[in-house]
Amino acid sequence: MAGFWFCTGVRGVDLVLGSGPSGVAVATALLARGRAVTMLDCGARLPHNATHQRDVLAQYAPLDWEPSWIAAYQKPQFFGAAGHVRRFGSDFAMEPEKATFSEGGDPIGLRASRAAGGLSNLWGAAMLPSRHSDISDWPISSVALAPHYRSISDIVPMSGTSDALARLFPSVDMTGIGQIPPTTQAETLLRRLSRHRDWMERQGTTVGAARQAVETGCQRCGMCLHGCPWGHIYTSCQTLERLKQTPGFAYRSGPAVAAISETLQGVNVFLSTGESISGTRVFVATGVLETARIILASEFGNFRELTLKDSQNAFLPMLTRWRADRRPDHPPCTTLPQVFLELEGTVPSKRSVHAQIYTWNEFYARDLTANYGAYLPAAFLQHLSLRLLVAQIFLHSDHSGRIHLSRTREGRLLARVSPAKETPFFLKSAASRIAKVMSKAGISALTFARRDGAPGSSFHVGGSLPMDTSPNHQQTDTLGRPHGLERVHVVDASVLPSIPATTITLTVMANAHRIGSLAP
Ligand SMILES: Cc1cc2nc3c(=O)[nH]c(=O)nc-3n(C[C@H](O)[C@H](O)[C@H](O)COP(=O)(O)OP(=O)(O)OC[C@H]3O[C@@H](n4cnc5c(N)ncnc54)[C@H](O)[C@@H]3O)c2cc1C
Repeated sequence: MAGFWFCTGVRGVDLVLGSGPSGVAVATALLARGRAVTMLDCGARLPHNATHQRDVLAQYAPLDWEPSWIAAYQKPQFFGAAGHVRRFGSDFAMEPEKATFSEGGDPIGLRASRAAGGLSNLWGAAMLPSRHSDISDWPISSVALAPHYRSISDIVPMSGTSDALARLFPSVDMTGIGQIPPTTQAETLLRRLSRHRDWMERQGTTVGAARQAVETGCQRCGMCLHGCPWGHIYTSCQTLERLKQTPGFAYRSGPAVAAISETLQGVNVFLSTGESISGTRVFVATGVLETARIILASEFGNFRELTLKDSQNAFLPMLTRWRADRRPDHPPCTTLPQVFLELEGTVPSKRSVHAQIYTWNEFYARDLTANYGAYLPAAFLQHLSLRLLVAQIFLHSDHSGRIHLSRTREGRLLARVSPAKETPFFLKSAASRIAKVMSKAGISALTFARRDGAPGSSFHVGGSLPMDTSPNHQQTDTLGRPHGLERVHVVDASVLPSIPATTITLTVMANAHRIGSLAP
């Protein structure tokens, strides 16, 4: 790296790379300790024309929206490439496959973000802490994480209710700001299942309302999967804006970080423009793919390959044998996951399986038409879509495949997948259990139509530099420092020792906050 780089920066300043959930969590903890923080971020923003379209919707009550406004807002998401997620009609928050991956590797569903707020601009906002049984072999206990879950609940709105799930997740009160009212289908489903609570417990199944990072004031307009016009679904940009008001915090967006190095006195961060910035410590929060790219390009450690652990997912369609109390496709409605299921004993280990149930959304009729439109009348498929629910099933990474990442000469990543043999069987077992439970609620699961996600497509992926109490050269210590380094801390999902089936981001944020609270 020597020679080429033009160096700026201040000693005595911690550098945080990235403004996604892990970046804002570590910055919050560092600032609370009175440290000075400079956040370096690619920081792409929603383009002006898309902001305008979103703001027009937000000026009116959902029932006053013109059908043409709705169609224009939704159209870009409907016509995106498979697996490419758009919100607010824009690609600003998800990097195209070719920007990150070199040709010749295995296809994977995971993508990077170079936006302010990272992938939290796109996410499903489902929030749960990790269960003790899922992280019992981590060097960080659930007790050590508990205060940091609570700190994150101070900066992220959490909507939830007090139900059977609370018992499984004692480390943080997920009732937070109260519950966003469930959809009409979710309400019926939860009511029907509540009659079978004891039976479900005997089956090792716990069901409850989804816990979501959504603010009160939700208008229930049904636009969740296209981008909330009012910004009620949490993105870490909201925390970033608050950080910008905090003394000691500076934000610099623009060129990508290409590599980092550590010296005796501090760290240097090398930007793609050739400039380098120095600081006392660096906290790498660029998301697992960009973090891999930076680590593989940095001279320390001589990393040749990093191996990501995946939480494999699958989609299970289901049909209600009943009609909901009112039409599910008319507002008020929301389209984020509505119901969580925690399953024990479907896999031969102590790891739990997590599932999220989506009730009606506007993709269903389109998907049915695309798959069966040649054989069945459109009106019938439209009617069927009002009875369709989908469960997204997640496995622990112990039962999922691995994604090996190496760096090509031109600086992109080459992905190679090694699937786990048991994954399809474990997904099948989980789907059978869900089918059994759902039949009690008058719902038929179409287990023959289960669709397993591509590797990485759950976006619950990490563990490429797992924390360990005695790290080897492919691991980090419990403060996320790659073996042998003192001032470089990786704080995103890369350092999780494994990926529990329950949602990933709350634990990523809590762990980043923990590292920010303890780093020397
Ligand atoms: C469609 C979808 C749905 C999801 N749903 C859920 C869910 O319901 N629940 C859940 O828990 N998780 C969910 N996730 C996963 C969740 O979004 C991620 O876990 C989370 O965003 C990771 O946060 P992060 O800060 O580590 O990284 P990111 O969110 O990826 O943020 C990376 C940050 O680093 C910056 N950056 C990247 N590269 C560079 C570089 N080279 N130089 C400088 N800055 C850089 C970016 O600008 C960005 O600010 C979902 C993800 C997707 C895509």
